[in-house]
Amino acid sequence: MPDASIVLSAQQVSTWFPVRNALGRVVNHVKAVEGVSLNLKAGETYGLVGESGCGKSTFGRTLVRLLEPTAGTVSLFGADISHLSEKEMLRFRRDIQIVFQDPYTSLNPRQRIGSMLMEVQAIHHIGQNRDERMARAMDILGQVGMLKEHFFRYPHEFSGGQRQRIGLARALILDPKVIICDEPVSALDVSIQSQIINLLRDLQQQRGLSYVFISHDMSVIKYISDRVGVMYLGHLVEQADTDELFAHPLHPYTRTLMSAVPSIDPRDTTRRIVLEGDLPSPIDPPSGCVFHTRCPQACPGCAAAPPAWQEVRPGHFVACPLCSGK
Ligand code: SF4
Repeated sequence: MPDASIVLSAQQVSTWFPVRNALGRVVNHVKAVEGVSLNLKAGETYGLVGESGCGKSTFGRTLVRLLEPTAGTVSLFGADISHLSEKEMLRFRRDIQIVFQDPYTSLNPRQRIGSMLMEVQAIHHIGQNRDERMARAMDILGQVGMLKEHFFRYPHEFSGGQRQRIGLARALILDPKVIICDEPVSALDVSIQSQIINLLRDLQQQRGLSYVFISHDMSVIKYISDRVGVMYLGHLVEQADTDELFAHPLHPYTRTLMSAVPSIDPRDTTRRIVLEGDLPSPIDPPSGCVFHTRCPQACPGCAAAPPAWQEVRPGHFVACPLCSGK
């Protein structure tokens, strides 16, 4: 019997990209996501954290079916959406939406904001006529803190924070139940970040939304998430309630992330986490535990077989045999 409190479920999802030679023949694969499972509960914020290139954004795009999983299943309210065509996915798009790091790249620079919001409604047959769609678009703009006159403006007329509000308005106009937030505040100044995060929390309470919140910033993840999953090289390595994870980080990678100082290069507003040593290639990942090439506690056995995913404290899962949870 499916658990009715689970709104979005991913089971053993892998997402690979083909690597082709000069003749176009597939010679290898980028294994961006490998066997990741997640059950998102109604009204929950699940934070997904890891270094840039760890596969968290690819996983987010697979959840919303912008990408098709290579293996595993993605279910939305119990319905398997893993391999639906774009046309078949249309009726599910109203329930699950994605907000990107920079919505500007997905906005048409020659289309006014209001026109874009009305077009999205028309595609999904929302509203009886133009007046209804316009009223709804104005209302959504107000809900994300924009003004009615912004309806008539073009994307380039807005700041980064305002564009993120527009990205949210575009997602909310369909009245979704689940939103995948893919690094939604990473490109914003810290003061603007907190405004957007607080807006996301308010909207969640008002609308009963569930979020998968993807970020490489541990402090943002700690603030917004109910539960956290830590990803490394396409694998989920640890998962627990937020308070539990931050009080008792068990996996050596999670501990490394928590002690890492984000780079604060003024040209790098994304405050990337920089760890010692390069992230191994997802084309040819290390054998056994994928973290063994960087793990300070690695022993020869770690390279031999992948560690089991085990529950070491109630609701606290980790993929490392050294973690006893004590
Ligand atoms: Fe480190 Fe071994 Fe644990 Fe992997 S399994 S995290 S290499 S100690």
